[in-house]
Amino acid sequence: MSDTLTDILDSAEALTDPRQHSEPRYEWDANRNKKPVDPYRTIVPGLIQQLRDLAEEGSTSGDESGVRSVPDSRPPGEFDAVSLIAAITFGAAWRAGQVGLKARDTAEGNIRSIVGTISTLDSDTQHDIRRELMSWRRQADVILGWEQPPIELVAPCPVVDADGYGTPCGARGTLVAQRDGSGARCVKCGAVWDEKTVGMLFEHVRRYTEASKAAAERARKVIRDAKAEQRRIADEARERRHTEAA
Ligand SMILES: [Zn+2]
Repeated sequence: MSDTLTDILDSAEALTDPRQHSEPRYEWDANRNKKPVDPYRTIVPGLIQQLRDLAEEGSTSGDESGVRSVPDSRPPGEFDAVSLIAAITFGAAWRAGQVGLKARDTAEGNIRSIVGTISTLDSDTQHDIRRELMSWRRQADVILGWEQPPIELVAPCPVVDADGYGTPCGARGTLVAQRDGSGARCVKCGAVWDEKTVGMLFEHVRRYTEASKAAAERARKVIRDAKAEQRRIADEARERRHTEAA
């Protein structure tokens, strides 16, 4: 099966079908070592249903008069959830009609019937559908918190040739890494480190952090030494005044 079809099936399934979610758990033994234990396994609904649940949480949290007394109590992402559901519902219905299918009642129904007919569609349409489904899935993952934003690495980008003409990147605050350590990239020059190469980047960051720690320590020592010298001069001056006065 082509990658396009795999992506389409994967994304459609994530959007429409319940799946098992494992929450990792740990316990600490007598020696305070962290040990993994059996994860909690729960069945979570498809992403579209999760978005509906998130949107609903906000709309039922007001008091009986329907007036919301504490607007800040809305869960984060609720507005995003509402607009993404609208985009998916409309987009899936439009796409179903565009490929000649009868529109279903739900976004899930439309997505499933589109996937059911996918192999009969031309490759341009398949690519469009792939892009739509993957974008919806990605946005849903972010809104629902399944996907955590990457972490920023504190080191300048080590890329020595960012443009093919030997211009180093060296940008600061632009290196971001996946939380599981599986990859990283520079948002300035676009360099990507994958599972095989990311170790070298982490090594660069480690060295940079240690070097800057050492530099900071040297700077502190210079200040300490200067202060000690000032104190010595002041002490000497006081001593001289004492002896002169005596
Ligand atoms: Zn860079």
